[in-house]
Order: sequence, then structure tokens, then C-alpha cells
Amino acid sequence: MIVGVLVEIANKSVDKIFDYHVPSNMENDIKIGVRVSVPFGRMILEGFVLEFRDSSSVELKDIIDVVDSDIVLNQELLELGKTIKKKTLSPLISCYQVMLPKALKAKKGKDISIKYDTYYKINPNYDSSFSLNNTQKKIFDIVKEKELVLRKDLLSVSASSLQTLLKKKILLEEKKEHYRLQYQDGPSLKKELTADQKAVVSSVIQSSSQTFLLYGVTGSGKTEVYMEIIDYYLSLGKNSIVLVPEISLTPQMIERFQKRFGNQIAALHSGLSDGEKYDEWRRISRGEVSIVIGARSAIFAPLLNLGIIILDEEHSDSYKQSDANPRYHARDIAMIRAKTHHCSVLLGSATPSLESMARAQKGVYQLLELVNRVNGKQLPKVTIVDMNESFSKMKGHFSSELFESIQSCFQKKEQSILLLNRRGYASFVTCKNCGFTFKCPNCDITLTYHKSSNTLRCHYCGYGEKVYNECPKCHEKAFSNLGIGTQRIEEELKELLPNVRILRMDYDTTSKKGKHEEMIASFKNHEYDILLGTQMVAKGLDFANVTLVGVINADTSLNIPDFRSSENTFSLLSQVAGRSGRSAKEGRVIIQTFNPDHYAIKYAQKHDYLSFYQQEMDIRKRLKYPPYYYLCCIRISGKNASFIFQEALKIKNSLERNLKSVIILGPSNALVFKMNQIYRYQIILKFKKEDELYPIFSKIVDHYQFNRMIRIDIDFNPTQVL
Ligand code: ADP
Ligand code: ZN
Repeated sequence: MIVGVLVEIANKSVDKIFDYHVPSNMENDIKIGVRVSVPFGRMILEGFVLEFRDSSSVELKDIIDVVDSDIVLNQELLELGKTIKKKTLSPLISCYQVMLPKALKAKKGKDISIKYDTYYKINPNYDSSFSLNNTQKKIFDIVKEKELVLRKDLLSVSASSLQTLLKKKILLEEKKEHYRLQYQDGPSLKKELTADQKAVVSSVIQSSSQTFLLYGVTGSGKTEVYMEIIDYYLSLGKNSIVLVPEISLTPQMIERFQKRFGNQIAALHSGLSDGEKYDEWRRISRGEVSIVIGARSAIFAPLLNLGIIILDEEHSDSYKQSDANPRYHARDIAMIRAKTHHCSVLLGSATPSLESMARAQKGVYQLLELVNRVNGKQLPKVTIVDMNESFSKMKGHFSSELFESIQSCFQKKEQSILLLNRRGYASFVTCKNCGFTFKCPNCDITLTYHKSSNTLRCHYCGYGEKVYNECPKCHEKAFSNLGIGTQRIEEELKELLPNVRILRMDYDTTSKKGKHEEMIASFKNHEYDILLGTQMVAKGLDFANVTLVGVINADTSLNIPDFRSSENTFSLLSQVAGRSGRSAKEGRVIIQTFNPDHYAIKYAQKHDYLSFYQQEMDIRKRLKYPPYYYLCCIRISGKNASFIFQEALKIKNSLERNLKSVIILGPSNALVFKMNQIYRYQIILKFKKEDELYPIFSKIVDHYQFNRMIRIDIDFNPTQVL
């Protein structure tokens, strides 16, 4: 028997299938989609069996071992990997690795083991002539009644008697896998849906292969709708995947699903240990669960027979893998899988991405709406504080409006959430006095500061200008790099309000396992008055006693040098505002900003997504950005800056020769131009049809594949061009 094996090195030069001979004693264990270990040069590597071959004229090496007893990649995922490779130009092996938990990756997964429990059963052929004493009889009877009994339950009766029964072969041992996570079957907490919610549910379940966009304001009961739809498909014996951004995949969310669906769910998120993830993956792969809820990579969950795929907060850029191959978007994968399974995709958001809303407007997606909150209340009133005016009256980073609101909220024994918008980078320059930032006249994105040349540069098109000392708007000499941390704000607050209990939540304080859960539980319990944090506090949280949301600095995300900065700011402000007034008590929101007239902020204040959408679409059209054009970023990096730049120019020239209708920008410096001694340039393409790019892209990638001085990364539809 001969098989084709894809070995586990994510390197373009070995991205092909090698043939191996299977020794006859292993033939029965070989299946397409299992891993094997093979000799490769002087190394021993793991690889996936992808194909059976007829015969071979050449002498082949033998497979060393078959690693898995069950298939790791099923037929659907094997095909899917090939499609991803084609679409992202990544090595095939990385397209498969991204689908699997760490435990199933060569090297990395070696010390993640399966746990077993030991059980005992009665040997059907036991020697009945042996006479049992009383304790032995007791154990025998327990096992006889229950058929299979855990070791520890029998040890507690008598260890020595158990030993005797085993020695006499009256009892037999059986090992069964022990999953680290246990889900309790809760009482099925079903809510009677409102008429609006019911209408959405019935639209979705009426057709079986559609893409729906559910545009529903915060607190309109989208999650409840998702669960009802999942329940429907469950009744048809069909499975579901629910994707949630990591950041909102809070214990609260999982608890809601768990209460309703008990151990029919598997949850995949970064709060799990590698062992727990591996257990969850095996439960899924064995068909022991019907619902998978997880972050981006859960889109690859090996569920069969899908009824629906749901992406909550579909606008979230966490659905795009940007930092490694393959640079895929979970939404695209959802579409491919839905086609295979003839199932629907439901995209949900209070602030849909422009791409999705534009498709819904065109009728490509079916638009569904939930315009009201479930509690019948208006969305919370939003007050904008103009920091240009408040500047002199500030207490630290707090305007008097925000400070007084926090105080009165505290006095009423209600809770508040404070957002420190830290999505910024210190490399752009802002006027401390008026909030002015420099923008590129060509690309309308923030210019970034380059210390070495003391210039401001556009990292899309390369435009540059000298740095001024004086602000062109207010003529003050007050330029600074922004960069305040949550810790500093916490200290300020403690000084201003010594009796207030503050809970700080950011990546530092939540990195320890279980900490996030603990914090959320204690805030819900009102052990704290203020939840202060970064983007983490903006999404997915549902606290009945929160009546005030404060945004300390709305502008940082506005100033990120990215064409999506307005969209991201609008959605962040809308999301965080949505944490206020979710139950019976009236909520309010205070946003501090230097840009009170910016449309992203004004429309967020009015909860007016559609007007924001219109205005942003006009800008995107004028500047030829998505959704009017697709973007692609080619990053060219290496140690020798001048060599890399020369090659980048060559690449640009050959792109220009081959692609007549494509707009090509750059090469320009990437936002982080030098990282670990590696220089990074980028070329940005704006195009209408991706198919015409692939031939020339493949040529470029192939041309450099063996060149160690240069690295080419291609990122289609980058979430951020940084
Ligand atoms: P969204 O996901 O749109 O923000 P949720 O599904 O979290 O909204 O609902 C907001 C709140 O309203 C939650 O506390 C939820 O339990 C509650 N809720 C949702 N639907 C109903 C309903 N039909 N009846 C009563 N409460 C509901
Ligand atoms: Zn520019």
C-alpha cells in the first residue's frame, strides 16, 4: 500500500505531497485524514495521509507509525483546506493546522494527554466456584447491579477485596476517557419571545440556504433569537456553530447556552487549557455534541450535518486571522461550509460591517431587523462632552460631567462601566489642547510619526511631511503621543472617590485562568461599583444594575491610521453604550471627546446606525475603499532594507504590467516599519475582481519561495492596514 502524505512543515518549499510505503502490519490502521510519522531527510516528521496511490515504480520509504486511531481531518475539512490554500495563497499544511487544537499539532501537542477513568465490570466467564466473603460479595453485587462502576467508588468499599476480585479475574478493568470539562444539564431556561423576535426566527427557519443579516440594536434579544433557531434545528437532528468574538465570549454568554442546552454544547475559547480544548474537540469530532460555541477558529469545528452557522457581532475584526497564515476570515469560511451543508448563515450585529450591510441592501443577504430593546425602553441617553471646552476644568482625565455622574450613580447604589479606549498607537501625534491630528490628503488616514527622519508619513501611499512644533489648528505647542493606561485611571479615581470600589479589567488583570469569570461574577454581585477597562468591557456583558457608561477617550480609535477607524469607533461606542440600562432602570452614557462634531461620534450619540452607514459609504466610494473596492495588502519583509525596497519596487512594476484595472499603492513603510530587525514594506491593491490577481500573485510567491532574504505575505481584505 502506498499513501501520499503532507508533512508538517509550514514552508512553501515542502508544500507538496510525498509518497510513502505502508508496511503491511499498519495497512488496517491507515485512513485518509489520520496522522502518520514518517522519515523526512534526516528528520522524523508527522504528516497527514491525504491520498491512496496505486503503485509506484520507485523505491519508497516506509511509514514509521500511525499516530491516530480516529480520523483527524474528515473529507469536508480536507477539501476546505484546499480551498483556503487557493484563496489565501498559504501553504496547505498551515490551512490544516489552523483547524486543529494544539494537542493535535506535531511537537507542540506532545505533552497534552487524554485522561482516563478506570471502571470495573463483571467477567462474563468468571470462575463461580470461588466463594466470596461478605465484603467481596458486596462489591460484586454493586458491580452486578450497575454493570460498570468507577474505581474510586469500589475503593471506598474495600481496596483489598477489590484487589482479590481482580486477581481472581471475577472483575475486569475497563478504561474510559475522562473529559476535563463537565456541563451540568440545567433547567431549560426558555423565554417567551416577543413578536419581533418570533418574526426573525420564522424568517430564518423558513429557508435552508440563505445568508441573513440580523441588524438588531443592543439588548434587542439577538442571543435569545439565536438559541431559538438552534433549538429548531436541534429538533430536526441538525447541528449548529455559533461564533462570538473572543472578547465577548464571556462566562455569561456560555452560561446562557449551557443553561438552555446542557451538555449538548461544546465551548472553545482561550480561557480553556490545551487539555480542555482537546477534550472539547474530541467530543465534537465524535458527534457527542450538537452545538459548538466559540471564537474564530471554532468555524472549523468538525460537526456533521450543520443546520445553521451563526456569527454574532459579525462586524468584529477578531474574525479575521491577520497575524499568521492562512489569513482567513471566519465569515468566508462560514459561507463555504454552508454551501457544503446546504445550510443558512446568520450574521448578527447592532452595528453591521459596511460590507455586510451593503450586501443586504443589494439583496445578496436577506436583511432582518430588531429595532427595539426587549425591555421596551429607549436606548440610553448619550451625552457628549467636548474636551476642547472642558480641558481647563478637568479632574485628571475626568470632565466634571463624567465625574459627577459617576458620583451620583454611586450614591444611588447603581454601578457604572468606564471604557478606556486603548486601541490606539503611540506613533501618531495629537494636539493635547484641541485634539488635532494630521491626515494624509490622499488617503484620509492619520499620519504616523517617524522618529528617525522626524517626519509624518502615510503608510498607505507613502506621502510625507515635516513635523511642526505648533498645532495648525489652535496654534498651541502641545503635541504629544497619547498613551494612558488603565492603572493610571484607576489611581486617579481612587484619589477622587476614595470610597468607591473599582474593578480593573484588562489583559493584564485577566490573564490568569478563571480570573475573567471571577471578575464578572463579583461585579454582578455588586462587590464593586465601577468596572474600569479596555475594549473588554464594551461587549457582550449584561448587568442589570449598570446605569452609567463612561467613555474616557473616544478619540484614540478615531485616530488609528486605518480607513476603518470611523467605523470601528462608531461600533465601539455603540456597543459600550449598549451596556447601560439593560433592565428596568434607566441608563445613560457619557462620551468624552476632542471631536464632538465627528460623524462617528454624533451618530453614535443618536444611536443612528443607518445615517452613519450612509455617510461612511459616501466616503468609501469617493476614496475607493471597501465595500466599493476590495483591498489586498502585500507585505514584503526582510533584514536588508534597501534590498527589500528594490524587490518591492520590482513587484509593484510587475503588478502594474499585469493588472490594468487595479489601483496599486506603495511600496510604503508598514506602520510598524522595523520589527525585530526586520524591515517591512507594503503594497496595497484596490480591485474589483479577485480572480485576476491569483495568477500573478502565485508567480510572485513562487519566484521568492527559496529566497531566504525576503518574505512575502499576502493579506486579502485586511481588517487593518497597519
Ligand atoms: P442582545 O444579544 O441583542 O444584546 P440579549 O439576547 O442579550 O440581547 O437580550 C438582552 C436581555 O433581554 C437579556 O438579559 C435577555 O435575557 C433578555 N431577553 C431577551 N429576550 C427576551 C424575552 N423575549 N423576554 C424576556 N427577556 C428577554
Ligand atoms: Zn496616503
